[in-house]
Amino acid sequence: MTFMPNLGPGQLEALQLAGLQWTVRHVHAHSDFYRQRLLEAGVGPNDIRGLQDLRRLPFTTAEHLRQGYPFPLLSAPMEDVVRIHASSGTTGKRKVLCYTQQDLDDWAHMFARCYEMAGLTSLDRVQICVGYGVWTAGAGFQRGCETFGALAVPVGPGNLEMQCQFLEDFQTTVLCSTSSMALLLAEEVQRRGLLDRISLKKIIYGSERTSEAMRRRISEGLGGVELFDIPGMTELYGPGTGLECAAHQGIHYWADYYIVEIINPITLEPVAPGEIGEMVVTTLRKQAAPLIRYRTRDLTRLLEGPCPCGNGLPRHDRLLGRSDDMIKYRAVNIYPGQIDAVLSYSHGVSSEYQIFLEHRADGRDYMIVRVERIAGASPSDDETVAREVAKAIKAQVLVSVEVQLVEHGSLPRSDRKSKRVFDKRF
Ligand code: ZN
Repeated sequence: MTFMPNLGPGQLEALQLAGLQWTVRHVHAHSDFYRQRLLEAGVGPNDIRGLQDLRRLPFTTAEHLRQGYPFPLLSAPMEDVVRIHASSGTTGKRKVLCYTQQDLDDWAHMFARCYEMAGLTSLDRVQICVGYGVWTAGAGFQRGCETFGALAVPVGPGNLEMQCQFLEDFQTTVLCSTSSMALLLAEEVQRRGLLDRISLKKIIYGSERTSEAMRRRISEGLGGVELFDIPGMTELYGPGTGLECAAHQGIHYWADYYIVEIINPITLEPVAPGEIGEMVVTTLRKQAAPLIRYRTRDLTRLLEGPCPCGNGLPRHDRLLGRSDDMIKYRAVNIYPGQIDAVLSYSHGVSSEYQIFLEHRADGRDYMIVRVERIAGASPSDDETVAREVAKAIKAQVLVSVEVQLVEHGSLPRSDRKSKRVFDKRF
């Protein structure tokens, strides 16, 4: 059985147009919020004649979700809503999203497609080490796995003792987690000398941006496992709306379920093909909480041309950061991803780092990049390594930073997401 769509030339565009027309009619009929927004934009329920009319529609933002709390964007009768999920938002109210039964089935189908793209079979054993509960992670990975037909081992995050025992006893072949958790587990497997007693082949990881260096360390620490980045946000069903393919050339996204636009976050105009910008998504089938031109704040770019893996669904690059994560430092806009890209290709440093911003008595801002030296390296090389890293950051990110090397393994590890930026200027 395949979960991939079988689309001939032009069929994806036809399907997207039909989905867009349905979505606009649907929200116009069932959502006061969207009806008002469409009215303000001067778009009627039957005004979508081609995909180019997408640009006539108004944007939706996270702020609209907060304003609509507890059931924002609701576009289906309450009796058709069968589940809610919420984001782990720390400021203000959480984002809560409603799902109809069809929404859940669509999500499970999309997620099963991810497992298919990662090359799983019904004999795979999938250890799911992500958060269960109101978050979308656990429910998404679990139901997707069962829909696909592999064996789900629902463990949740943390609990390294149990994770290691299950890896060995159940001969788990696929692990699903954040990259921080995967690194933690890789280090634990090394420490316990378990590598030749486990059968892990693949890791599907998501929910945080991950450097090349960190991917390499996870893969090497677990005996050369293959890594697949999975994107996902609560607003757009949850994880499973696309996956890094086996050619590892970006993320194929399920364009039969939603449309991706990349815009300049300042001008709100589309960027040139292949340029980096903010990802904006519009759903094509979502019933309870459809998204119309939802500004995700995630930065990425579309990848042009056919993929060597042979799959015809379109691709975007891995997420390069969030437009909210932007650090303003000495009049330069910096994304943490730019720093970890430099660290990934620097010698003598590991993947774990933290960025501190300070305002000092001389009235200037300072950026300190604290990074672990590689395992087994001598502190006597610190000065040379730090100088080289600072030089590379200056050359590539155009800012002066202080680089401090610290003991390997001394920066905090997390079983969920790692906090890396500490702004102490205000
Ligand atoms: Zn591909």
